[in-house]
Amino acid sequence: MLSTMQDVPLLISRILTHGSTIHGSSQVITWTGEGEPQRRSFAEIGGRAARLAHALRDDLGVRDDDRVATLMWNNAEHVEAYYAIPAMGAILHTLNLRLPPEQLVWIVNHAADRVVVANGSLLPLLAPLLPHLKTIEHVVVSGPGDRSLLDGATVQVHEYEDLIADKPESYDWPELDERQAAAMCYTSGTTGDPKGVIYSHRSIYLHSMQVNMAQSMGLTDADTSLVVVPQFHVNAWGLPHAMFMTGVNVLMPDRFLQPAPLAEMIESQRPTHAAAVPTIWQGLLAELKAKPRDVSSLTQVTIGGSACPPALMKAFDELGMRVCHAWGMTETSPLGTIARPPAQVEVGSDEEFAYRLTQGRFPASVEARLTGPGGERLPWDGESAGELEVRGPWIAGAYYGGQGAEVLRPADKFSEDGWLKTGDVGTISPDGFLTLTDRAKDVIKSGGEWISSVDLENALMAHPDVAEAAVVAVPDDKWGERPLATVVLKEGSGADFETLRSFLAGEGKIAKWQLPERWTIIESVPKTSVGKFDKKVLRRQYAAGELD
Ligand code: ADP
Repeated sequence: MLSTMQDVPLLISRILTHGSTIHGSSQVITWTGEGEPQRRSFAEIGGRAARLAHALRDDLGVRDDDRVATLMWNNAEHVEAYYAIPAMGAILHTLNLRLPPEQLVWIVNHAADRVVVANGSLLPLLAPLLPHLKTIEHVVVSGPGDRSLLDGATVQVHEYEDLIADKPESYDWPELDERQAAAMCYTSGTTGDPKGVIYSHRSIYLHSMQVNMAQSMGLTDADTSLVVVPQFHVNAWGLPHAMFMTGVNVLMPDRFLQPAPLAEMIESQRPTHAAAVPTIWQGLLAELKAKPRDVSSLTQVTIGGSACPPALMKAFDELGMRVCHAWGMTETSPLGTIARPPAQVEVGSDEEFAYRLTQGRFPASVEARLTGPGGERLPWDGESAGELEVRGPWIAGAYYGGQGAEVLRPADKFSEDGWLKTGDVGTISPDGFLTLTDRAKDVIKSGGEWISSVDLENALMAHPDVAEAAVVAVPDDKWGERPLATVVLKEGSGADFETLRSFLAGEGKIAKWQLPERWTIIESVPKTSVGKFDKKVLRRQYAAGELD
């Protein structure tokens, strides 16, 4: 028997309509680098998104399922594109502007994007790629930047503001199937070609509701959130969608992502919440130490994308900013776990700190299991470490195969019964808290035992002289693999390996046999396009003899 409930599809147009009416006075504030930031109400964003949809359909001929790419920073126009493109039935394809140019070309051609909406400041990146982008017919340019870079381009070039200027402020958004593709995002190709994840209206809608739950980010229209996490990477962790549901004001940094302007924005715009990867926060911390600012408004900070070092969490606690650690990936929309300690744990206790350092608890819609090396199911006992597999309504079940091609379900990424194999190794406690010990490919296999590179890194980064540390496995005749610690020292520090090694041994967290005997000092840890430690570069440098 079916229910008697209405069957209303969960569509992005509904989030837009809700946000731009019920929360019409909430604002998207975009940093411009000089003078007052640009302020646009949700009501204005709603009207402009409708105008953009008209322009895309009537002037550019965008139709259902056409891919419209964005090459943009976090700003109001990008939010407009986030809504207009999927709501009209087309597919938003956010391009990661930090990828190597050849990967960007591959991705645009694979997705067969017809249009790209680009920020003017990114034309130096886009213009040389255009001759290689086989399916792009139109470029729409928004914001400051040298348009002459597009002189001679064989595509049609449009000015964003001119294009939408005389269009109607409302659009009869189509009643789509909620399972239809709404947005796509490619994972950075750490191994092989990048892989396209396609989100549906339904998955984005449900994920946004989860982001808003009190046990997730739990923000309200009394908050302003500084969204540092890029809109080009996993939909900025779902924040632009979630915020239109609840009226949270949004502060967008545009291209001003360096520590000094971030500190300035926090001081002047007084956000209550911010979200970014650890490397951004490390930079901000150093900036605030060098030049203190009033950052007292910022009481909640969401950190994810890579493990939050304990020293970073402590330092933020001391500044009055409470860190909430979360785990996710492109394939999980991204919210997979979030570390809110159970209510019965005493606030400020060591136990609470330990809970906060885990990757967090699974929300109701994310099911999890751990699989051992032989494919066996492992218990949730907080000790048995295995590969994490997940499933749920906002978890990918396949990758985009390309136009007209079947979707891809590589056996190393999806189990036979359809679960996503995350490639992350960890334990789960009986009360559902995930602790990641490594990525499957980063774990150090020494003499039949596993050493967690993350544990070593965290212990090293707790030393006052260490700015950053990355540990990778290197081949060893006797043990198979041993850890190599690459360390970035703080300016003016003279710490030597013996000091650091005895510090690690003295912490009591690292067993003697796990202590690295290979060390090297580097100037900075190589980072991926989204600011994570890029260990494959370190492994390559070691193999080439560059790290001895
Ligand atoms: P990429 O593979 O290009 O880095 P993602 O941004 O999707 O793409 O990265 C997802 C991965 O990032 C996860 O599989 C995990 O290894 C890592 N990660 C994300 N959040 C955390 C976290 N809080 N702690 C540890 N690792 C994390």
